[in-house]
Amino acid sequence: MSNLKILVINAGSSSLKYQLFNTETSEVLAKGLCERIGIDGKVKHTPAGKDSYEADVNMENHGDAIKTVIKLMTTGDTAVVGSLEEIDAVGHRVLHGGAEFSKSVIVNDDVIAAIKKCIPLGPLHNPANLTGILACEEAMHGIPQVAVFDTAFHQTMPQKAYLYALPYEYYKKYGVRRYGFHGTSHMYVSQKAIEFLGKPAEELKIIVCHLGNGSSISAVSGGKCVDTSMGLTPLEGLPMGTRSGNIDPAILEYIMDNENIDIHEMTNILNKKSGVLGISGISSDFRDLYAAKDQGNERAAAALESFIYSIQKFIGSYAAAMGGLDAVVFTAGIGENNAALRASVVEPLGFMGIKIDPKKNEVRGTIDISAEDATVKTLVIPTDEEFAIARDTERLVSGK
Ligand code: AMP
Repeated sequence: MSNLKILVINAGSSSLKYQLFNTETSEVLAKGLCERIGIDGKVKHTPAGKDSYEADVNMENHGDAIKTVIKLMTTGDTAVVGSLEEIDAVGHRVLHGGAEFSKSVIVNDDVIAAIKKCIPLGPLHNPANLTGILACEEAMHGIPQVAVFDTAFHQTMPQKAYLYALPYEYYKKYGVRRYGFHGTSHMYVSQKAIEFLGKPAEELKIIVCHLGNGSSISAVSGGKCVDTSMGLTPLEGLPMGTRSGNIDPAILEYIMDNENIDIHEMTNILNKKSGVLGISGISSDFRDLYAAKDQGNERAAAALESFIYSIQKFIGSYAAAMGGLDAVVFTAGIGENNAALRASVVEPLGFMGIKIDPKKNEVRGTIDISAEDATVKTLVIPTDEEFAIARDTERLVSGK
């Protein structure tokens, strides 16, 4: 990497997360979060090696938030650069790139128009992401902005993997197809796995299990995504913290009729009140679920079983879809930290050659947790979506 300073921005509807990277050293120079933008405004800013600075700052909009971030990064005790001119580029996380974007791009008027076109596909996130881009363009005039899409890595999926069995006109008219999400993480982690395995990408078939509050699994063959569990939206696939994942679509009408609720309330239930929270009735956090299960809570145990079973089914089906398997990779909050869950997932998969060494599995920081006689590797690779965004931004602005 060259020696650039890249600011990574993840803008939500009322929040703005940021990290400033030095790409040569991979060091995070500062990171922070502006919250409650347009409400009462709170900011937390952590310069490397210093205590966090927290304050109430009135921020009317994302423009105010980015001005606050710039001030904190460039002035006083919280400063990490001498002036704004030291920042070489800004990388923005954008949720939905539709079928328009298979790679990260430098933002220009056409890119902004295309992100706007994707708003119907990502109605909650894309407007916020766009607001973040426009606020930075205004406050940091002349500094290149790069859009990095959550969907881009999955654009290599073949038609058989992305087409839903619905009237074809919905695909043509409205773009209803599988897109997949967490693409930056799946790309970063699968590339790390390929490096670790030390073979040409073309020879490798890998399943990446990104297990966090949102969870998705992807099948990566020859370094390219060939299938993934999330769909048109991040609601499909595994049961998650609060999202249902796959269910029979007929359930919607059945519940709506019985509970006398409309489609908006139903969709809210599927997104916010389902998943392991819905089954357990306790929490969306896996630490809470394991603690409750240990105390004999049967619904917490049922929620965990359902999650684990679903992961096992995806691993089996993706191995079949790729016609083989070289490695299963665990990543994100649960995948990286929860050894008990990893052990439960692989437990019945010995017949596929997936076996882990229980001791290696328990030691934090071990990448290869496979047993001696495993024919498929099991790896634990920490994801770093912000760093991956910084790396892609650097690649584009330095013309690599
Ligand atoms: P993420 O969305 O990737 O931040 O992951 C959030 C999930 O990771 C939560 O369900 C947490 O229970 C789980 N998690 C995060 N850290 C740990 C940890 N140290 N031990 C066990 N689970 C963890």
